[in-house]
Amino acid sequence: MTARSHEASARKNFMPQGYCVKCKAKKEIVDAVEETMKNGRKAIKGKCPTCGTVMFKILGGKAPASSGTPATPPASQ
Ligand SMILES: [Zn+2]
Repeated sequence: MTARSHEASARKNFMPQGYCVKCKAKKEIVDAVEETMKNGRKAIKGKCPTCGTVMFKILGGKAPASSGTPATPPASQ
């Protein structure tokens, strides 16, 4: 068995947004392709609809828990 389900052919309603460094604005990412990076995180790679600059948006497979519960160990003693 070969696990080769990486080809998203009929997915046109999938329009994520990203930040274009050239336009300095948020844009829809066209030709968006979901990729999994080496560290296991998912990212979206595509192009800016205005200038065609390659855009890259990291989705983050593992939530980094931004300012949630402070990890303070209880003082035992
Ligand atoms: Zn742009």
